[in-house]
Amino acid sequence: MTDMDAAHAEILAEYGVTEIGENKYAVTGSTGNMYTVSYVGCGDCGEGLWECDCPAGKHGRNCKHLTRAINCFRELANLHGWE
Ligand SMILES: [Zn+2]
Repeated sequence: MTDMDAAHAEILAEYGVTEIGENKYAVTGSTGNMYTVSYVGCGDCGEGLWECDCPAGKHGRNCKHLTRAINCFRELANLHGWE
């Protein structure tokens, strides 16, 4: 494992985010429930659109899992120098 991989894994662990597939992540909720956050495409503003399968997320609300996952991706992007 490279330092980069270790730092990547550390960020995921810090946010309680697990990679479960291509553009699919499991996020642990405050009560220990696991929710799936997936990338569903690109918004009009050019930002990635993400969806969570928790009750709030299903209604298109920006739930705390999405917020957490997006913060996590932002840190990963910083780490890797992604655009
Ligand atoms: Zn959610």
